[in-house]
Amino acid sequence: MNLLDGKTAIITGAASPRGLGKATAKLFAEHGARIAILDLDAAAAKAAAEELGEGHIGLACNVTDKAACEAAAQEVIDTFGQVDILVNNAGITQPLKLMDIAPENYDAVLDVNLRGTLYMSQSVIPHMRGRKTGSIVNISSVSAQRGGGIFGGPHYSAAKAGVLGLTKATARECAPDGVRANAVCPGFIATDITGGKLTDEMMEQILAGIPMARAGEASDVAGCCLFLASDLAAYVTGSEVDVNGGSLI
Ligand code: NAD
Repeated sequence: MNLLDGKTAIITGAASPRGLGKATAKLFAEHGARIAILDLDAAAAKAAAEELGEGHIGLACNVTDKAACEAAAQEVIDTFGQVDILVNNAGITQPLKLMDIAPENYDAVLDVNLRGTLYMSQSVIPHMRGRKTGSIVNISSVSAQRGGGIFGGPHYSAAKAGVLGLTKATARECAPDGVRANAVCPGFIATDITGGKLTDEMMEQILAGIPMARAGEASDVAGCCLFLASDLAAYVTGSEVDVNGGSLI
């Protein structure tokens, strides 16, 4: 059963080869959606869109730039005639301790993860409200819920906690207009953000905290995004869904 037939989805940060955004784009496309991949590099975004097959587009968009977000959203609307789904997935992390966070570190991490989520949401909500339908899926993190992890510094936890608050406020404000907003909180997922930086000791430590005793796959997160984006979740808004192998039990 195709869950997204006739729908158009914007997914930010979806050009990363092993990333959550790309896996989500692939699953959405398999379910019939037309995809717009937004990422920093135009060529990478286009290549990622082409990999999905015919009828998808890739655009350069730095989500920290409000004008760029608005222009990209407009281009998607001009191309496909509609935007039904926005997945705010673009994110960066920095493995810093509290006292090592310089103002520029704080700005960079808050800008991409939190400001970018606001700007992209603002860029599609008027259109979604006009059509009385829309689903926004914001990618937060288990780091928001438990105050850090191996990769994310306190500023990352703060940014991702901010995403949770922003999601609930968006959901509350937009519910009367038929627009839903939900957050996904991935735990430890094997992607480029986490890959290649782990010693055996770190890996052992991480797995000890995961009842399912394995790292998550990008496809685990994509499945959750698919549910929230689709009409199966028609009465789900303002929620935060954990995809973490039981890490918070
Ligand atoms: P990734 O590094 O593989 O991909 C992130 C993508 O975001 C890249 O393609 C990058 O180019 C893009 N990006 C960075 N800054 C951008 C900007 N200013 N504008 C547009 N695009 C930008 O990371 P990932 O592991 O796939 O993570 C995806 C999301 O999931 C992030 O928000 C991350 O914080 C979150 N997350 C990941 C994990 C994990 O374990 N991998 C866990 C919890 C949350």
